[in-house]
Amino acid sequence: MTNQSFYEIKCTGCGQTFTEQQTCTTCTKCAAPLDVVYDYDLMKQRLNLYSLKNSPISALKYLSFYPIINLDKIVSLNEGGTPLHHCVNLSKKYDIKNLYIKNEGANPTGVFKDRGTLVEVTKAQEMGAKAVCLASTGNMAASVAAYCSIAKIPCYVLVPEGTPIGKLAQSLSYGARIIQVRGSYVECAKLAEKMAEKHGFYLAGDYVFRLEGQKSQAYEIAEQLNWRAPDYLICPVGVGTNLSAIWKGFLELKRFDLIDKLPKLIAVQPKGANVVITAFKTKKKCKALEFTDTICSAVNVSDPLDGPKVLKCIFDSHGHAVDIADDHVLEIQQLVAKQEAIFVEPSGALPMAAVDLLAAKGFFKKTDTVVCIATGNGLKDPKSAVKIVPEPPTIDPKLDEVDHYLKHKIYQIQAEGIKNKDKILWKKIPNTSSLKKIIKEEFSISLSTKVLENSIKSIQDFENKGKTITKQDLQNIIESQLDKYSSKERHLEIIDFETKTSKYNMAEASIKLRIGKHLHLAQSKGVGAVDALIKGINVAIKKHDKISITLIDYNVEIFTGGVEAAVKVTMKAVDKFGNKIISHATSPDVIVASVKAFEKCYNFLYHKNHGKN
Ligand SMILES: *Cc1c(COP(=O)(O)O)cnc(C)c1O
Ligand SMILES: [Zn+2]
Repeated sequence: MTNQSFYEIKCTGCGQTFTEQQTCTTCTKCAAPLDVVYDYDLMKQRLNLYSLKNSPISALKYLSFYPIINLDKIVSLNEGGTPLHHCVNLSKKYDIKNLYIKNEGANPTGVFKDRGTLVEVTKAQEMGAKAVCLASTGNMAASVAAYCSIAKIPCYVLVPEGTPIGKLAQSLSYGARIIQVRGSYVECAKLAEKMAEKHGFYLAGDYVFRLEGQKSQAYEIAEQLNWRAPDYLICPVGVGTNLSAIWKGFLELKRFDLIDKLPKLIAVQPKGANVVITAFKTKKKCKALEFTDTICSAVNVSDPLDGPKVLKCIFDSHGHAVDIADDHVLEIQQLVAKQEAIFVEPSGALPMAAVDLLAAKGFFKKTDTVVCIATGNGLKDPKSAVKIVPEPPTIDPKLDEVDHYLKHKIYQIQAEGIKNKDKILWKKIPNTSSLKKIIKEEFSISLSTKVLENSIKSIQDFENKGKTITKQDLQNIIESQLDKYSSKERHLEIIDFETKTSKYNMAEASIKLRIGKHLHLAQSKGVGAVDALIKGINVAIKKHDKISITLIDYNVEIFTGGVEAAVKVTMKAVDKFGNKIISHATSPDVIVASVKAFEKCYNFLYHKNHGKN
């Protein structure tokens, strides 16, 4: 240790020490992760216990615990100081009196990573970095990009090709220079390392300085619990840097006698990316997965760099580790939002899912203090929540339509539909009275005989196509039956159609349809089956009606459930008077769903034009 510095960098593998100029990423000898080792006596001299105990919480107030030398270089967005929310409703549900959520989504970019970025980008400034580069698929990129933007340092981000643009919108808006790489995340990380080395950029990522910044979660939690550690601290694990950081934070508090006991740590991963949990359960070393698959994108890591550190934390703290199925994560994400009004991204729901799992086994005592780290804000990844929450119905601005919604309890169908979406409801198509019973059981509503009869027709259509009806399918069918326009007289009805497509030629369609009282047989060609059909229908329509309608948007969404999944088609159409409509239709067959959606669009616009709306 040099005398002007109170810390040094040490390899967790071979024990070699370095200065930060030599390396602050991985060991140059054995490639293991590094650790910042402090001279704690020196650190204690620098501590101002009075201000530590009396000033409001924020990541910046713990400056003496970070390896920062030049305080003029600090790059901060006023991160940390996040609420420790006492779970008013869930503490009753799980019978744990002191159940808390540390809401890290309240950080400047919506994720705990901002605490690490505070230290990391400050160090980049201190070391005179001309640019920062990193590999990421989402949250870290946005966080580093934000801090680089105020520090006026260029920020280069390497992402795997195909990363959804939504995830990157935040980073791009902060001005990150994003490059998409034809390869996996691991390949991006390797390339980022080489890029940093060759061009003299500062390499950001899950390295030592980030870890030092993220310790402040532990400080804040202890302080918010009146200088006590919780009995259990539950944290999701991706690379594992965050859990290691929190543990180090608690160790430091203990060392300075700011708390008198340490928490037990519970690591949580999704079943589809569970390297650390598997290692814990089998008492073996972390073994990289060849393939990962989870909705928890922020912890979708096949080869967690800090996995060994996490295992040591669990062991040293006498903790535990669990993995959670994706469906369970989504269910708990909803529960946390509905019971505690905290909207988290799926990874952030993992700790409460662990509580759900463990509480059922009687793991906790009623008097335990349990803290869940809700790592990220739900707005980061709205698509995953949209997957499970219902699509709200659309109505005209008329009170009778509101009444229809209330009378048929459409909100209730949608709320009940969240559970057991893939459940198969029957072996043989039910009759109206048994369908009534099934719907009552699954959705807690009673439907009229007419709606039930029409639903059975739709069910038959699905089953004729060879589709086994799931609860999700039934929900779609009921909702579409309760949609006011499906009960209206259909001016346009597609009776049947046939399409022929081939790889090299235009698609052909022949269609049998009714417009008003007139039957038509139409033949048409198009660039694909759907295009050919719509062209054919439009030609027939033009013979009778002046409203020609144009498609302005078309979107196909596949419900989860493999090749046998049903698809949902959303169409947006406009007529020549500028009236717009969005309609949806579901079917096991994408062409059928498209035709149904188009039929709905047309009938809506027809009624609108003919004053029946
Ligand atoms: C990064 C991240 C994690 C995982 O943290 P690690 O340090 O990689 O273990 C968990 N949740 C969210 C929301 C994240 O952004
Ligand atoms: Zn080493």
